[in-house]
Amino acid sequence: MFGRESKPNTETMPQVTIVTARCSKSGGLFGVRFEKIGDAWVCTWAFKIREESASREGYDRNEISGKFAFDEKYPGCPYCKNGSFFKCSCENVGCYDGESKQITCPWCHRRVTLSGVVESLSAGVDR
Ligand SMILES: [Zn+2]
Ligand SMILES: [Zn+2]
Repeated sequence: MFGRESKPNTETMPQVTIVTARCSKSGGLFGVRFEKIGDAWVCTWAFKIREESASREGYDRNEISGKFAFDEKYPGCPYCKNGSFFKCSCENVGCYDGESKQITCPWCHRRVTLSGVVESLSAGVDR
């Protein structure tokens, strides 16, 4: 054998990130796991986070942007089962029932009027 080594195949490595969100009904904190599949971020899982551990476990802020999709197995908000999200002008993400036109942001308590599609979310790196 001679010639160059073939490049390691990185495409099989799933790109995974965690977005920290809050339940807009209960105010509870939860993490949403996104997996990059093709050119879309697909949310595959949601789990409760305790307030104290959210910062300690280093869900560092960074932005993911692009298309979003929901895996059919996505369980919804772990508190109220809402299956979608909205992003407030305060840059935080809350659960959303997919239908309401207005919602109270669970982070800053402003009344938010929803329009359009969420295009980017603040995310942390899953370690
Ligand atoms: Zn909720
Ligand atoms: Zn807000």
